[in-house]
Amino acid sequence: MPAPLLEVENLTHVYHPQTARAVRALEDVSFTVAHGEFVAIIGGNGSGKSTLARHLNALLLPTGGRVRVDGLDTAVDEHLWEIRRRVGMVFQNPDNQLVTSIVEEDVAFGPENLGVPPAEIRVRVDAALAAVRMSALRERPPHLLSGGQKQRVAIAGILALRPSCIVFDEATTMLDPAGQREVMESARCLRDESGITIIAITHNMDEAATADRILVLHEGRLALDAPPRQLFTEAARLRALRLDLPEAAQVADGLRRRGVAVEAGRVEIAGLAEAILALAGRR
Ligand code: ADP
Ligand code: MG
Repeated sequence: MPAPLLEVENLTHVYHPQTARAVRALEDVSFTVAHGEFVAIIGGNGSGKSTLARHLNALLLPTGGRVRVDGLDTAVDEHLWEIRRRVGMVFQNPDNQLVTSIVEEDVAFGPENLGVPPAEIRVRVDAALAAVRMSALRERPPHLLSGGQKQRVAIAGILALRPSCIVFDEATTMLDPAGQREVMESARCLRDESGITIIAITHNMDEAATADRILVLHEGRLALDAPPRQLFTEAARLRALRLDLPEAAQVADGLRRRGVAVEAGRVEIAGLAEAILALAGRR
C-alpha cells in the first residue's frame, strides 16, 4: 500500500485560543486520503469545512493533532512552500483569484514566482490551459469571462505548479448551473486523466454524490465518512445532521417508504429512472 497523500490525525483547531473569543472550529478530526481519490466534504454552515480546507495546504496550523501532505508535516516551516505547491486551493469567488489582465499571464504567474525557466513555463501554461479547455481564450482579459471560465483559469494557474491535489472550497457556489458543471467536469477530468487528488467542499448534494467518498462535518467533528451510495441510504441520519439527500436519493427514499422496492442509495436521476421503469415492467 502506498502512503496516503493526506493524513489528518486528531486535528483540532481553535481560533483565538486562550481568549474570551475562542472558537473551537475542529475537534479531533482524523482521516486519510489516498493519491488520486475524489473526496467530497459536506456539512452545514460553520461546521468547519473551510477551516479544514485551510489546514490541507498549511494556510492554518493545528492547535492540536497533525496534518501531513505526502509525508510532510504542515507545522514544519521548511515544508511550507512545497506543501502550498502540492496542494492548490480554488475558492468561492472567482473574481478574487485572478491577478493579471490576460488569461495566459494569470496561469504563468505562479511558476514565474517560483523561478521556473521561461521555456518550461510556456510548456506548462499550454498544458494547463488545454487541460481545462481554455486554450482558445488564452489572450482574453479575465474580466470578460463567465464565472465558470474564471474558475477554470484559476484551476489552470494551480495546474501550472504541477500539484498533487486541488481543494475546491465551495468553488461552484457562485456559478450558474452551466458553470457548476464545467468546473466539476474539469475536476473529474484532472483526476481521471492526470491522477490529481480532488477534495470538493460543496453544498450541492448532487455534486457530492459524484465523489468516491463523502466526509460529513458536524459542529467541527467528522460525523460520517462513506461512499455516496452508502451515505445516502442513511436518510434519517443525514436529516438529523440537517443535510439534504440528492434529488434522486430523496425520490428513492420516498418510494421505499411507500413500499416500492427501489435499490437503496440511488444517487443519479438516470439510474433511478431505469430502476423505476424496470419495476413498472417496462424494461
Ligand atoms: P464552514 O466552512 O463549514 O462554514 P468554517 O470553517 O468557516 O465553517 O467555520 C467554522 C467555525 O469557525 C465557525 O463557528 C466560524 O464562525 C468560525 N471561524 C471561521 N473563521 C474564523 C476566524 N477567522 N476567526 C474566528 N472564528 C472563525
Ligand atoms: Mg466555508
